[in-house]
Amino acid sequence: MATLEVINLKQYFHINPGFLAKIIKNKKNSVIKAVDGMSFSLEAGEIIGLAGESGCGKSTACMAIAKLREPTGGTIRYDGSDISQMSADETKKYRQQVQLIFQDPYESLNPRFTVFDTVAEPLRALGIGTREQRRQRVLGTLHLVGLNPDEYLQRYPHQMSGGERQRVGIASALVLEPKLVIADEPLSMLDVSIRAGILDLIRELSAQMNFTCIYVSHDLSILANISKRLIIMYLGQMMEMAPTREMITDPLHPYTKALISAVAIPDPSYNRPIPDIRGEVSQPIDPPPGCRFQTRCMQVMDVCKRMHPPQYEVRPGHYVACHLYQPTGRSKKRPDQN
Ligand code: SF4
Repeated sequence: MATLEVINLKQYFHINPGFLAKIIKNKKNSVIKAVDGMSFSLEAGEIIGLAGESGCGKSTACMAIAKLREPTGGTIRYDGSDISQMSADETKKYRQQVQLIFQDPYESLNPRFTVFDTVAEPLRALGIGTREQRRQRVLGTLHLVGLNPDEYLQRYPHQMSGGERQRVGIASALVLEPKLVIADEPLSMLDVSIRAGILDLIRELSAQMNFTCIYVSHDLSILANISKRLIIMYLGQMMEMAPTREMITDPLHPYTKALISAVAIPDPSYNRPIPDIRGEVSQPIDPPPGCRFQTRCMQVMDVCKRMHPPQYEVRPGHYVACHLYQPTGRSKKRPDQN
């Protein structure tokens, strides 16, 4: 059984422009479809990468999975249980087992808390262990993330570097020994020189503690390093999902191809091809019918403007939402797609 199953997840936000804007500017109510029909599953211990431009719905989907926001539609199952049907006790246990590592180690730590206070807080809030047991667990977790407790236990956030703060953030997520960790761009605020160390740490801890991980990033080179499978999102929808190596070496969706061609190669003699993409990112407000990528796609066809492309399984485990890959006998539609 999959640890996590996300089925046709939808998260919409309704916008009311206000009475005066309606009267004077003739504005109407509109809908932002931040996540629109996302489906995937995760096996225990697997790391999956979630990639796409800012505003494509990656973090919004994670908020719904972490039960921090009620989704508009769809089902999220954790260990076979629908999280929307959980009782208060089950929700408390779910919150213990699903933890987040945040993007910004400067904002996510309380400046008045020492390292000990920060890492012990989840244990204290959930009433886990005695004071001494909590202390021992904090010390053990700090060792795990590579911080010497003798040196760091009484430090405040302003007395640490960005990398050290992020290690504290990781410790406070892992002190509860979670089964599922959602890492939402944990490297994006860090100096390039320390990113590799934090990335290695998350990979090693995932193997050591056997937690499942959703790793969110807009940087494909990072995701290629850490994840077993990749999901590419664009304007709230999944464009492609495949094993990481296959996605990087043989991308199918025009958007994935453009993203991969834009990855920085540290070689001045490399002659970068111009990405096969045009225009600007469309607005997710009241999106037009058909493919969300139609305004930027160089291969757009009439059918793309009329029909939303379902996801086709082009190769085993490799799904792509594009009319270019309509079934030819080799590919087939995903059973959980409309
Ligand atoms: Fe381009 Fe059409 Fe494929 Fe969308 S469905 S990516 S517009 S070819």
